[in-house]
Amino acid sequence: MVQPGEPLVELKNVSMTYGQGANAVKAVDNLTLTIKKGEFIAVVGPSGCGKSSMMKLISGLKPTSEGTLTIEGQPVKGPINKVGMAFQASNLLPWRTAVDNVLLPLEIVQPHRSRMSKEKAAYREKARALLESVGLGGFTDKFPWQLSGGMQQRTSICRALIHEPEILMLDEPFGALDAFTREELWCATRDIHQKRGVTAMLVTHDLREAVFLADTVYVMSDRPGKIVKVQHVDLPRPRDLEVTYTKPFQDLVHELRSHIGKH
Ligand code: ADP
Ligand code: MG
Repeated sequence: MVQPGEPLVELKNVSMTYGQGANAVKAVDNLTLTIKKGEFIAVVGPSGCGKSSMMKLISGLKPTSEGTLTIEGQPVKGPINKVGMAFQASNLLPWRTAVDNVLLPLEIVQPHRSRMSKEKAAYREKARALLESVGLGGFTDKFPWQLSGGMQQRTSICRALIHEPEILMLDEPFGALDAFTREELWCATRDIHQKRGVTAMLVTHDLREAVFLADTVYVMSDRPGKIVKVQHVDLPRPRDLEVTYTKPFQDLVHELRSHIGKH
């Protein structure tokens, strides 16, 4: 069992190419990085540079073309259920209430799937508690169309967490939200990370978001995505939104900006 602060995910010289021959598209190139258990990393870079591809590699949805990728020291050979994912579009099923959307992965992922029928009430209670913990206590039985964009995204993050994954992957989850709602969701994400001790990987275009949430920010080049800058964020935790107005914060954002799109 990997302890907090020890290496959880390790990529060594990992490359990945879609397609073959004349249709080959190299998405990521020579990625080497270590994500520690409990760490929050952010990945930033231009559109199409391979950020989502990197997530698909780590979650085992795509195989590496070169290099080695391990989680807890074990090579990743296929989809792993240690991962929970949330995306820019919340992808909630419109005919299910918030709580039933959160329960969805448990109907698919073992060992929960076999237990679901016997322990439905307990699982439902857990989903409700999770929604309550992100401020949706009064909305558990609402349908997606009865929820605001921010509430839908909170629900989507709860769905990613319901099977207690080791790693939470967030692929531009707040991109479609207005600025104020986005900042509220930053705080909700910060609290989830802090309370649950989950390891988190956030893909974002928003450098302020990356610096606010992450311990380490990786800047990727244009496709094929290479890591061109590793920035540690040593701002003390817990961070509140006030920190975004301070000079150390803004200096970090500025520094990251200087590495985007130069390569
Ligand atoms: P990002 O998330 O940084 O915007 P992606 O990882 O989605 O980038 O894509 C990286 C590159 O790989 C892009 O050029 C994209 O067109 C290509 N790509 C992504 N998915 C596929 C696929 N299934 N087949 C072929 N090429 C793909
Ligand atoms: Mg993407």
